[in-house]
Amino acid sequence: MRDSVYVTKTRLPLREEFFRQIGTVVDTAWLTNDGECVRTLERRLQEYLGVPHLLVCNNGTTALMLAIQCAGLAHKKIAVTPYTYVATLSALLWMDCTPVFIDIDPGTLCLSPQLLHRALQEQPDIAGVLPVHVYGFSCDIDRLESICREHGATLIYDAAQAFGSSCKGKSLLDYGDYSICSFHATKLFHTAEGGCVVSHSDEAHRALSLARAFGHIGDTHYTLGINAKMSELHAALGLTLLPGTQEEIDKRQNLHRVYDKALEGANLTKPRVLDTSFSWNYSYYPVLLQDEATLLRVMCRLAEQNIYPRRYFYPSLNTLEYLRSEWRGSCPVSENTAARVLCLPLHGDLAPDIAETVSRFLVAELPSSSLQ
Ligand SMILES: *Cc1c(COP(=O)(O)O)cnc(C)c1O
Repeated sequence: MRDSVYVTKTRLPLREEFFRQIGTVVDTAWLTNDGECVRTLERRLQEYLGVPHLLVCNNGTTALMLAIQCAGLAHKKIAVTPYTYVATLSALLWMDCTPVFIDIDPGTLCLSPQLLHRALQEQPDIAGVLPVHVYGFSCDIDRLESICREHGATLIYDAAQAFGSSCKGKSLLDYGDYSICSFHATKLFHTAEGGCVVSHSDEAHRALSLARAFGHIGDTHYTLGINAKMSELHAALGLTLLPGTQEEIDKRQNLHRVYDKALEGANLTKPRVLDTSFSWNYSYYPVLLQDEATLLRVMCRLAEQNIYPRRYFYPSLNTLEYLRSEWRGSCPVSENTAARVLCLPLHGDLAPDIAETVSRFLVAELPSSSLQ
């Protein structure tokens, strides 16, 4: 029987390159606190992404907490999409913010500008907006920006999945007042654990940098801080993986073509971005099945073959049991999407014939498929 096939597989550097990079860390005996690898990684990422200020952190969740804290949004009301990984919401809750769930647009699966506009009119005390570029797709960045400007709300993008995606010639990480990214091992570019915050002024960058390291310099304590520093070992991994990122994107794009072809005419839908200036990182392959029953049947059938796609994102976060009941509300588009979405296995190491096999088993379980 073939090896198990999971939704993704961690990208690893060449052993020699990684050991050489780690060797420089051992030589200097400097393991953390703004070391050489962290500084170099920040510079390289800033160039790679073409962003003005970038600060690396120990993960994407703390990166988001830092952005919320430094934007002065702690304890405030924040509009957020319910269709995302739970960390988007947990960062907000750890900052004692009140979530206001805004349903998603059925086309992009990102936070709906229309519904946001209405919510801001009804609740002027919403101080910040936290949309997510799901699957590396682009939110409606122009409309979100103008709506936030009009209402004086701070715009923080969770761009955890958007590394390598761009719109109008700019990295998605360059949009909003702040954008955060995750460098978790499951992401396209990673440092095992890690993340970053992108900001747009010297002042914001300094505040983030201070808060990342306990809020003090020497014996002078300026502000509430936390430990959100990335270690030199993680940064060393990032330095060895960054150059292979475009190749990884190209491989995933090829697999997309394989899936697209094998699923042509199948009874499912795929989210799409229509902006012609958008360039995708191809990091995921999400499909929307007819209903949850079909999805569960497909998952069972694939599991028999040792193939494990993932329900990204499920459940819709506005339905979480541990939330205060007055926060939950109803987000029909997100709930409906979450019930029937499946991300198919996709990573640079996946053999094209496995993608074909996955597609074949998937299509066989679809009701009234139009495939002959
Ligand atoms: C991965 C992810 C996060 C969390 O990042 P960590 O680095 O694991 O803390 C947050 N939001 C989204 C949308 C993600 O996909």
